[in-house]
Amino acid sequence: MSDTSYAPKGPASQHGRRRGHDSGGERRRDAATIASLKAEVAAQAALIVRQEVSLAHSRKIFDRASVAARIGVWECSLPGEQLHWTDVVYDLFDLPRGAALDRSEIIKCYPAESRKALDSLRSRAIVERSGFTLDAEITTFAGRSRWIRITATVECEDGVPVRIFGMKQDITEEKILSDRMRYLAEFDAMTGLANRARFQARLAHADEGRPLGALLLIDLDGFKAVNDTFGHVVGDECLKAAAERLAGGCGEADLVARVGGDEFAVLLGPHLDRGAVSGMARRIIEAMGNPVVVRGQSLRLGASVGIAFAGTGTPCDLFAQADTALYAAKAAGRNTFRIFKAEAGLKGRSVAA
Ligand code: GH3
Ligand code: MG
Repeated sequence: MSDTSYAPKGPASQHGRRRGHDSGGERRRDAATIASLKAEVAAQAALIVRQEVSLAHSRKIFDRASVAARIGVWECSLPGEQLHWTDVVYDLFDLPRGAALDRSEIIKCYPAESRKALDSLRSRAIVERSGFTLDAEITTFAGRSRWIRITATVECEDGVPVRIFGMKQDITEEKILSDRMRYLAEFDAMTGLANRARFQARLAHADEGRPLGALLLIDLDGFKAVNDTFGHVVGDECLKAAAERLAGGCGEADLVARVGGDEFAVLLGPHLDRGAVSGMARRIIEAMGNPVVVRGQSLRLGASVGIAFAGTGTPCDLFAQADTALYAAKAAGRNTFRIFKAEAGLKGRSVAA
């Protein structure tokens, strides 16, 4: 629009026409107003362009960070359940980006347990107008197994939930690492049995729902000589074989653990009587006595077993009693077992076969 095209039509112009000497001044004022408006429009347009550039830049950074962190954004309308995903969420589910989304199909990617947890958290969040976080396993549309962390927030309009939205992040590597850490904290890496820490934790919390019946401590006989004669690598193979035999022969056990170098522990529930526990000790000794073939060498191991039955003492007492019985089995010539017996008049404790 140019200045000359401007043709005022309002009362001011009629007035101007009546008083010719004023119309020039008014036109100048109008022109100045128009010029100022045009400048403002131009400034606003420049601002919008700058904001668009800045927005595009932020969007680019967000998209890159989102891809690098494997975090996508999702939203689901309520109650219609129409889904909208950013590209990363499509990638997490191995779906082509932009494909039509059907929540009833997507939910099938969650195994029953995760689906149950998701449904219950989601329903509660909608009722309470709150949110939730859930780590869930999925099987993607390409059949891949993945762990995702879902965060969700419910959005309301006039107090009515209209949308649930949040993020989905690929946490598969984090999950593998944390599972590995937990495994290393609780299991013996060489034999795969529970380690001493897990054994002690179980012993200490024995009164919490799973009562203890008996504890067997098993120590290999003359194991140092195996190391000294054949080397530590062969010694390690023997320990693995011993652990396998122990785990294989103690299916009824509450816990089988490696609690020291060549020392193992078997925790039993209260369902086995003394005869059954003694039978188990005999079978352990017999199994340990079978030859172990390592690198073409046939070796024989032996084991001694100390048994203590749970009574009125503490878990710590039970361990000390089994240890006393083990010491007695060693003293009795090894390759045998002893049961701890507390007897009045014999300085409180003695052991008997
Ligand atoms: P005893 O009959 O009295 O039980 O004596 P032992 O020769 O079996 O020796 P002891 O039980 O006193 O000591 C256990 C030995 O086990 C000490 C060490 O040489 C060996 N040992 C401990 N940890 C490992 C391991 O991880 N690998 C191997 N190869 N040997 C181990
Ligand atoms: Mg030993």
